[in-house]
Amino acid sequence: MGFRLANVAGRASLVDGDHYFDIETVSTGWLPSDVMGALAHRDALSELACVIADREPSGQVADVVLGPPVTRPQKVFGIGLNYRDHAAESSMVVPENPLVFTKFPSCLAGPTADVEMRSDFCDYEGELVVVIGDGGKDIPAENAWDHVLGMTIGQDISDRRAQFAAKPPHFDLGKSFDTFGPIGPVLVSTEEIADPGALRVVTVVNGEERQNDTVANLIFDVPTLIAYLSQITTLVTGDLIFTGTPSGVGAAHGRFLVHGDVVVTTIEGIGTISNRCVRVADHHSPGD
Ligand code: ZN
Repeated sequence: MGFRLANVAGRASLVDGDHYFDIETVSTGWLPSDVMGALAHRDALSELACVIADREPSGQVADVVLGPPVTRPQKVFGIGLNYRDHAAESSMVVPENPLVFTKFPSCLAGPTADVEMRSDFCDYEGELVVVIGDGGKDIPAENAWDHVLGMTIGQDISDRRAQFAAKPPHFDLGKSFDTFGPIGPVLVSTEEIADPGALRVVTVVNGEERQNDTVANLIFDVPTLIAYLSQITTLVTGDLIFTGTPSGVGAAHGRFLVHGDVVVTTIEGIGTISNRCVRVADHHSPGD
């Protein structure tokens, strides 16, 4: 049996139905309250998830504001142009190798956090996010799923002006503004997901469906990405991989996010994240 892990006011919690259970409390202090600390206890979390139905819940999920289920990963990878249709709409050739960038961990935000936009060229990218469990180096693709703790939903918010302000473009800066990485609502362990290679990612803006595809259509699938990245850098518990976004992003149609827009991404079996966009101060490049 697996588990559903949430961040309630910075405290690791298990979710069961409508209720959450503070991990430190229900484990009577055996497990840490800190989310990153809890991630290291995969087996204990699964065992605890089996018995919480008999325990007193800490509260209702609907009554609290959730934080990101992974708070301080060492690394956050993003994969660009990893769906054929998205590469086509971006007028880019399909990559022969994974197009990898990083999002600074400081951009992570909760599943209902406001996105703070600093230009009129900000965009959504609904994505499946993989959370590394047991880390490693040179992980073979055939063993890669053993190193995945679970999955969550991510919004790879991108300021296209900042992203393409330099040539060649610097994806990392344009995608790492504070608040540009909402994730959640929970981390769902792999045991809870029947077919993690076929999850459907749907993104809706102000009620209008913009993206709808399945991760079965990833050009570079999760095992391939883990094998590739782990040859270069040792993966550690909590590292995140934003696996890429399907077609339908705003930039492809000149429809960028404006103040008040609400971006909702759903993956069946994981849940929904919903983020309101707020236009704040302008950012300026030296060359403006
Ligand atoms: Zn992306």
